Amino acid sequence: MSDLKVDKNDPGNSAIERDPLNFLKHPRQMPHKRSSQNRRIDFKEIYTASETGDSSNQAARCLDCGNPYCEWKCPLHNYIPNWLEQVAQQNYQQAAELMYETNPLPEICGRVCPQDRLCEQACTLNTGFGAVTIGAIEKNITDQAIAKKWRPDLSQVPISSKKVAIVGAGPAGLACADQLARNGIKAVVYDRYPEIGGLLTFGIPGFKLEKEVMRKRRQFLEDIGVEFKLNTNVGKTLSFEQLQSSFDSVFLAMGTYTSVKANLPGIESSGVIKALDYLIGNVNQQQNYQMAEFPFYDLKDKTVIVIGGGDTAMDCVRTAIRQGAESVSCVYRRDQQSMPGSPREVANAQEEGIEFLFNLAPSSIAIDESTDQVIGLNVEKTFQQIDPESGSVKLQIEQDSEQLLKSDVVITAFGFKASPADWFSKSGIALKQSGLIEMRPSESFDRDYSQQTSLDGVFAGGDMVRGADLVVTAIAEGIQAAYEIMDYIGD
Ligand code: FAD
Ligand code: SF4
Repeated sequence: MSDLKVDKNDPGNSAIERDPLNFLKHPRQMPHKRSSQNRRIDFKEIYTASETGDSSNQAARCLDCGNPYCEWKCPLHNYIPNWLEQVAQQNYQQAAELMYETNPLPEICGRVCPQDRLCEQACTLNTGFGAVTIGAIEKNITDQAIAKKWRPDLSQVPISSKKVAIVGAGPAGLACADQLARNGIKAVVYDRYPEIGGLLTFGIPGFKLEKEVMRKRRQFLEDIGVEFKLNTNVGKTLSFEQLQSSFDSVFLAMGTYTSVKANLPGIESSGVIKALDYLIGNVNQQQNYQMAEFPFYDLKDKTVIVIGGGDTAMDCVRTAIRQGAESVSCVYRRDQQSMPGSPREVANAQEEGIEFLFNLAPSSIAIDESTDQVIGLNVEKTFQQIDPESGSVKLQIEQDSEQLLKSDVVITAFGFKASPADWFSKSGIALKQSGLIEMRPSESFDRDYSQQTSLDGVFAGGDMVRGADLVVTAIAEGIQAAYEIMDYIGD
């Protein structure tokens, strides 16, 4: 990756002087964020690319505090202080290689990780001075490495005769494939969708993660030997038994896709849309993917209510405003502090003109009886009460507080639960009562693997094991599974 090297004899490129007070000289500075008016009209990312020099100034703020809490809080235990030091010294090549060592998708985590709940929350400087912009630096340096077509040198890695099938091209599947390929093992990734990425492509909208970023990562993975077989639904297009008989091991990384359904009267009416259906329909329309089961919902000039307070709800409100909705409101039953999504994304949504209505619980969908069409959402006020015996906080409904919030469309974003394939039980893959995959329940295996299913040689990871969670935790399980698979299949 020689292109990323800088000429340090050039006075403009001198490494940042090591000064423990750098964090005072350079305040925390996120990359430039486009104005809310400007970003409301398209699906491009809201942060613009920054110069490597800006990253160096920010990286030099790191205190190298001895006990790197950031590293512990990162689910991948990235070598954060080490690569910050390399960035500060303008050794971008070493920095990018260190980033890739523990994280196969650093440019993606830099964009979508809730850093304010993970690495940056744990940064010592977060106690009043502003955390080091860890995520933005990880994104910036890796983006530049990929733009320069950097690839790891695998010329000395012996090629194994073993091969592994991976079902699901989301972050868990991609992380596993990357780790196997780096170790000379053939990974063939199957996905039912026409592009790789799972929820990174068919879920998270372009204003958080542009689709071009995924395409570049696909090129990278193909260059290091990963093979993708897309538009292939395992269990329908191809049987699981075929995979078992053709490969030395199988890794399942199929996510969770069953939307949690609220018991709300009127929920089946026309004008009520499930969050993920809405988001996938929007991606398909923009990217020209043909998927008949996900129609495009055009919310231009509509009044829209989104129910929910997580990342998915934030993605829906911000998509609707970009489609030109007349107004978009987010209804959440608790207060702002209790919202499960990233506070940063909530703030971005507020800037873009979304109205947040807190402490309101939906009681029913209001419909026009003659057309069965949504006309709004009936809600009741809530308040929190501490149970004197247990000390737990309970949500209570205020009596006689019901009111109608008028809208043309209601989007429900209540989260996701397990969606086990019908062939799991026939194949002997054990499930928990929740439908998530049961890990290593059998004591008959020779070795104790954390990512092995009840079926010998079949491993699993990501949301289908943990329940709906995060990109970075899915990656962590994909990497762990790859190590275990390599141990299982041997040389
Ligand atoms: P997935 O990403 O769901 O990938 C599973 C893949 O398996 C899919 O491509 C699917 O097509 C494929 N598949 C399933 N069944 C089959 C089959 N039978 N045959 C072939 N292929 C199959 N997390 C964050 O960290 N930050 C965020 O900002 C964030 N935003 C989110 C926004 C939305 C709208 C949603 C829904 C989730 C968000 N998440 C976010 C969560 C994150 O996307 C998931 O936790 C993560 O993608 C899980 O990865 P995975 O690999 O387990 O599954
Ligand atoms: Fe932070 Fe996520 Fe990067 Fe870890 S992977 S350092 S949590 S942005």
